Amino acid sequence: IEKTVDVVVVGGGGAGFAAAVSAAENGASVILIEKSIAIGGNTLRSGGGYNTNNPELQSTMEITDSLLDELKGYLDADPKDYGDFAPTLEVLQNQIKEYIESGDTHLFDSPELHAIHTYIGGKRTDLEGNEIVGDYDLVTTYTNNTLPAMKWLEGNGVEMRDDVGTILGALWPRSHGGVKPLGTAFIDPLAEKAVELGTEIMLETKGEELIVEDGVVVGIKATKTDGTSVTLMANKGVVMATGGFGENGEMRQEYNTYWPTMPLTMKSTNTPDATGDGIVMGREIGAKLVGMEFIQLMPSSHPETGSLAGGVWGSAEDQVFVNKDGKRFVNEYSGRDTLASAILKQEDQLAYIICDEKTAGLSPEGKNVWGDSIEDLLGNKSVYKADTLEELAIQLGMDESALVDEINKYNGYIEKGEDPEFKKSNFGSKILTGPFYATPRSPSVHHTMGGLSIDTSARVINEDGKIIPGFYAAGEVTGGIHGGNRLGGNAISDIITFGKIAGESAAKDK
Ligand code: ADP
Repeated sequence: IEKTVDVVVVGGGGAGFAAAVSAAENGASVILIEKSIAIGGNTLRSGGGYNTNNPELQSTMEITDSLLDELKGYLDADPKDYGDFAPTLEVLQNQIKEYIESGDTHLFDSPELHAIHTYIGGKRTDLEGNEIVGDYDLVTTYTNNTLPAMKWLEGNGVEMRDDVGTILGALWPRSHGGVKPLGTAFIDPLAEKAVELGTEIMLETKGEELIVEDGVVVGIKATKTDGTSVTLMANKGVVMATGGFGENGEMRQEYNTYWPTMPLTMKSTNTPDATGDGIVMGREIGAKLVGMEFIQLMPSSHPETGSLAGGVWGSAEDQVFVNKDGKRFVNEYSGRDTLASAILKQEDQLAYIICDEKTAGLSPEGKNVWGDSIEDLLGNKSVYKADTLEELAIQLGMDESALVDEINKYNGYIEKGEDPEFKKSNFGSKILTGPFYATPRSPSVHHTMGGLSIDTSARVINEDGKIIPGFYAAGEVTGGIHGGNRLGGNAISDIITFGKIAGESAAKDK
């Protein structure tokens, strides 16, 4: 099979479909190839949280005391400690001053606060002692464009809910969700729109080798599952959107240094297709890779399957983690690497998320957000349920009074607005009314932070720091935005924001 179009998009997850729609909107003819039998990738398996500042909606909520304290803390911060992000901190400080002087008590947010959170959440040190942070230009391009990108999604048939929460590890209540569950909220309408705009989708077509002429990427060679060779020539460009390498154990071992004890066989939350193909194809033509040593573990994955599904919980401020002794051990509102490393230190590398009737977040039909029914979850011991905390403790083989005392103590901290033990930095509801639930969870591989180096127009950069003409990338296949640890809920808004940019750049550059 041989075809020629303007833009070839490789990978049919959120980034790929955002790129396809945006390229088509900008007048390009588009083919999207997807190696799997179905579209959606990891985007469909994610929690579907879309982080963005959104003053219109956030101003319908009140700020909590602990979040206000965090804001006040930035007023004393020294911009010099914020590296390239110093100008952003200074703008933020002025915003916070104005906010406090105005006496406003509604939830504050801004692109600058989101950028500072992304910076702090991602600032880590690698094994050689180098400091890794998100790239200033990429991060600010991201946080300045998440809200316009969400409006763009809405203009393309994506329906967003009018509430905001905190996906685990998001650090601030700015996680939005679709009306349709999880990633389907984004994939279904974007795929529909792409087809409506004339995009051809080729399933079971695996991109394998970029075609380069005189240093310009002009197409890609692919193979269909039945063995048919496919050559796709791109008049304007190829957009790589193949996702991460969370399911490629060997590639993880090759690059990972952040989790020295991570076993080759550690399970992941990913689809089996997340094997890093786009990174390999890019590496072969001299693309620069960034942040490859940092892999994010999802702290709260199913201990047996590694999946995100199969449990019950609500927004991060509502979550309480206890270990097998019924004891809390961490600020549940902290970043994902902090949470994962804390859980890895507990007996059996296990934590239970404790919920009551309200914080379990079950639908009226008794389903969690993944559509798992509570009856099934109880049946296969993915979740435990009891009318009282004592009975729950007995089921978990814990000392009854230990769990009851711990939850009472936690409720007391909420009452006081202060957690002297673990400094939980934002509180939700108390754990009060039965039935109570416990969901056992363990860390598994979730998101690979590193990948192809891009500029703010989603053009791929080579090892000499030069643009590779005709080559674009977006989504988890890229690196450099999230530093050493990605905030929960930042991935979906990253893949959509940069997918949109990549499609536009590819359609317009030539
Ligand atoms: P992102 O969040 O960056 O969009 P996803 O994991 O959601 O990433 O989507 C990536 C998609 O790319 C998946 O559907 C995956 O099957 C597909 N894919 C991965 N490698 C290839 C390849 N070599 N050729 C075509 N599609 C690929």
